[in-house]
Amino acid sequence: MKGRRYIMHLDGDAFFVSVEAAKDPRLRGRPVVTGQERGIASAMSYEAKALGITRAMPIFQIRRQFPQVAVVDSDYESYAVFSKRMMDIVRRYTDVVEEYSIDECFADFTDVPGFKKDPLPVLSRLKGEIGKELGISVSLGLASTKSLAKMASKSKKPDGLTIVCPEDVTSLLGKTPVDKVWGIGSATAISLRKKGITTALDLASKPAAWVSESFSKPLEEMHLELNGVSVHPVATGSEPQRSIMKTRTFFPASDDSSYVFSELSKNLEGACRRARELGLYAKDVSVYLKTKDLSYANASRKLSLPSNGSFQIVREAKKAFDEIFERGRLYRATGAILCGLVPEEAVQEDLFGGARAAEKGGKVLEAVDRINKKYGKSLVHMASSSRSLHRERRREKKALFMPRGSSKRLSVPYLGEAR
Ligand SMILES: [Mg+2]
Repeated sequence: MKGRRYIMHLDGDAFFVSVEAAKDPRLRGRPVVTGQERGIASAMSYEAKALGITRAMPIFQIRRQFPQVAVVDSDYESYAVFSKRMMDIVRRYTDVVEEYSIDECFADFTDVPGFKKDPLPVLSRLKGEIGKELGISVSLGLASTKSLAKMASKSKKPDGLTIVCPEDVTSLLGKTPVDKVWGIGSATAISLRKKGITTALDLASKPAAWVSESFSKPLEEMHLELNGVSVHPVATGSEPQRSIMKTRTFFPASDDSSYVFSELSKNLEGACRRARELGLYAKDVSVYLKTKDLSYANASRKLSLPSNGSFQIVREAKKAFDEIFERGRLYRATGAILCGLVPEEAVQEDLFGGARAAEKGGKVLEAVDRINKKYGKSLVHMASSSRSLHRERRREKKALFMPRGSSKRLSVPYLGEAR
């Protein structure tokens, strides 16, 4: 097929536990559970899953019921190091790599010379290198879209390598229940089932017009992806970022508008700081509030000029906030989203002083960013954020004196013995 893409999805097999077994070979082939430090199982080896152990099962119960299980602390530093090494190995083959999560990535092999003719030896070598150098196993799927590639890697686990040629797509789709399709949530799955769609194949075989009439854009895109049309490119992170979001949940919930706004203001400042770091300017700012009973309200404002200045953006966001804040309701989270981000070159200068005014604020913010970088993220902040920040600091101070247990973190992650 002309224009067909070659997209690989890689998924670490029981990644956290595999890393533990790579660090300590005595754990190989045994039922292993991580999460000792939290008192509940956070990851399980295949052997532990086979015993019926599931996520969030209390550790004391596991110990009582399955004394043969090895229980270890989670060690996120090592997981991060293994993850980075795994992604680096993939990058030996192609630059177009999207790190999707700590143990998953997508990689586009379309432009790798010679790959199309025979992908199997390349992918086997990649898999072999990860196994040999890191001591863990992964499952790979290759297809013409991200959605199909992800389905392919899942279809054979652990240690799978599934290449989906155009003629294999139908059988792969046919054995995948629609709620197991990446990106289809439980609500969508229920309404699909009501319309008689139970497998990915049922969905893919529907006419595009039917999908677009009955469902929203994401499902339309999904429909295309299942039909082999790549609409979601592998994102390497070097393409321009479209939006920046900062959000935080606070406790206890509050009905005090000045406090809730200070939480929002802090998120806005954080988002603006990030935009300045990236040299991006927002065209719109959008805010949301989440109530204690988990309902959302949101509003957005268009900025008169693209900006990343905290003063202007917080001022605009205050108007949006006033539109949605309801007296007497308890709020538990706020979120700030800068949208329509454009790089500096794309910002049209307003000849009537808008740009000059922005520049004045810009000098102050530059100084603030410098100070904050040197002395801690929010030493200098806007008055509107201070109530939220004060509460945060009080909590941090308290946490400093909390008993921490007797375990000690190594500054350099232990990566096991060299073999
Ligand atoms: Mg995984």
